[in-house]
Amino acid sequence: MHEIVVNLHMHTRFSDGSGTHKDIAQAAMQTGLDVVIVTDHNVLVQGVEGYYRSGPSRVLLLVGQEVHDQALKPQKNHLLVFNANRDVASYAPDPQHLINVIREADGMSFIAHPRDPEAPAFGEDDISWERWDVTGFTGLELWNGLSELKVYLKSKLHGIFYAFFPQFIGHGPLPEVLLKWDELTLDGKRIVAIGGSDAHAMYMSLGPISRTIYPYEFHFKAVNTHLFTSEPLTGDTATDRRLVYEAFKNGRCFVGYDLPASTKGFHFRAQGSSEDVTMGEEISAKGGVTLQIRLPGLADCRLIKDGKILKQWKRGDNFAHITTEPGIYRVEVYRRYLGRKVGWIFSNPIYVR
Ligand SMILES: [Zn+2]
Ligand SMILES: [Zn+2]
Repeated sequence: MHEIVVNLHMHTRFSDGSGTHKDIAQAAMQTGLDVVIVTDHNVLVQGVEGYYRSGPSRVLLLVGQEVHDQALKPQKNHLLVFNANRDVASYAPDPQHLINVIREADGMSFIAHPRDPEAPAFGEDDISWERWDVTGFTGLELWNGLSELKVYLKSKLHGIFYAFFPQFIGHGPLPEVLLKWDELTLDGKRIVAIGGSDAHAMYMSLGPISRTIYPYEFHFKAVNTHLFTSEPLTGDTATDRRLVYEAFKNGRCFVGYDLPASTKGFHFRAQGSSEDVTMGEEISAKGGVTLQIRLPGLADCRLIKDGKILKQWKRGDNFAHITTEPGIYRVEVYRRYLGRKVGWIFSNPIYVR
């Protein structure tokens, strides 16, 4: 398995972002990302997908879209769409039909910012996902950089503080979203968790202050999705696109908050009598299973089984747990950053059957 760092969910001038695809590729190369997935609102931008290169650096830029029903007020129910190979925005008024169309096209759908609260001081509506009656979607955006910010925007003053000190925004996935995810997987559904930045590189003007807030570079160093591909990336767009989307589909990934320290090197594996599996995969409980967790630095770790904390460890980087009990096992890691405890790593589950 080969770990690659992906930043996903961002906007360009084709919707409400301020930059171009080239700006995004440039920022991604500067921050050392392997892949970016651009998802403009209700448009599938053509002709920009591929490798961008600068000196020894390269980045694979992929294009998906973020679809929602524009007639709905407020505009709730945003869906991230990858690999559908066609524009599906016209299906937005019926989310279940939209999800079905994406599946039939061999694409993937992820519920974007499942909880996205209102921020009245900035005239921002609650645009959470409400259609929980739908089925067949690939996963959900466990941690969204922008909806987390909306939680803290109590006043204009808060807005100015976070515009200048964005490193204070990230705390972790919203608790309601973690709960919802566990509820869905306990119900027997495979729901892949991803982390999105929702980068817009917005231009803000407030009295005498005007600047680009949360530039792409900032987001690319913060909430990323770390994927495990079956082969290393080759530099060929079609081959690597397939490798990347195959890993997403199988949930071979974790959400990493790379701002306090890089989360590269995290591992969550399970070893049985004859199998050795990673996140997103299944293993038989027969004969016992050893769950192994390796962190890229000292931190506090929780092993979660079926939505409940099974075990907790303080300040370590290597943990193991032996079990014969079937269940959905996942890992949460927390560490100190700027005087607060923040979420660092959120793994996808290993399914012990
Ligand atoms: Zn959205
Ligand atoms: Zn968005």
